[in-house]
Amino acid sequence: MTEILKIEHLKKYFTKKRIFSSAGSSVKAVDDVSFSIKKGEVFVLAGESGSGKSTIAKLILKSIQADSGKIIFENQEIDNENINIKKIRMNCQMIHQDPYDSINPRMKIEDIVLEPLEIHNIGNKKERNRRMIEVLQEVKLEPAKEISKKYPHMLSGGQRQRVVLARALALKPKIILADEPVSMLDVSIRAEMLELMKELQKKYNISFIYITHDLATAKYFGQRIGILYLGKIVETGPIEEVLENPRHPYTQALIDAISEPNPNNLNIKKEIRIKDPPDADEFEGCRFKPRCTYAIEKCCKEPDLEKVEGDHYSACHIKLEQSE
Ligand code: SF4
Repeated sequence: MTEILKIEHLKKYFTKKRIFSSAGSSVKAVDDVSFSIKKGEVFVLAGESGSGKSTIAKLILKSIQADSGKIIFENQEIDNENINIKKIRMNCQMIHQDPYDSINPRMKIEDIVLEPLEIHNIGNKKERNRRMIEVLQEVKLEPAKEISKKYPHMLSGGQRQRVVLARALALKPKIILADEPVSMLDVSIRAEMLELMKELQKKYNISFIYITHDLATAKYFGQRIGILYLGKIVETGPIEEVLENPRHPYTQALIDAISEPNPNNLNIKKEIRIKDPPDADEFEGCRFKPRCTYAIEKCCKEPDLEKVEGDHYSACHIKLEQSE
């Protein structure tokens, strides 16, 4: 598989204002993040809220500008030239978390799906209408002609998220950035939506960046994963390998959090408690140190991502045991 997208040393810091003070502190939302995605691959970006997942998506789509780093699409760096931005926005589509918020309630379904085709001036009116119906059928919104005349409030949450998927597919994108696309859906509908995305991803060999805090859906949908913590990838590799043999204490804590159904007992097994993340300017050395029960003196120095084995990398000074 050839690489379709490469992210190199991406950085985005925000200034957080303090109450009663004119001075602000720097929040490292994305801090030297690098990864690549192959054609037709699903790469998962996983972590808690505030880890920088959604900021990375915005940086890729150029809806916000990076402080530094490179975004390379099909071997061409996407700089701030209009032509490059247009190229990435045509080939890279976004699915947002909230199907109620991400589509205009005053527009009919047909206009919502036609909008990207019109913005990018694809085909004539007849061709655009044909594509609109075709793509509604692809996401199993049937009868497509009837659905296309409806307004979003006339559809269920699951159907609305299918409209969002149809709009993302309309331009035949090479990459889809899916930001928690099923987290607001009922559990029963969630499985159907994931199955549909997987089917279409395979059929059209679309690359996905699947952004989530939910490791169960990540494992179902993804092939490789990057675990983000406070703006940095702390562990990455093939998804089964990382989730079955996590080598970073934070990945282990995330996995423990989903393995224990009682929220009062989260993480007792490995004695790692998930507290609220500290402010970015509060840590020195390893950013997980304030929450890590394995911390040693050496952790005052920030660890680099180092090979565990094969394509599996972890940024931790200690070598955690492989799980049984
Ligand atoms: Fe914990 Fe140290 Fe590893 Fe950071 S480097 S995760 S503080 S053991």
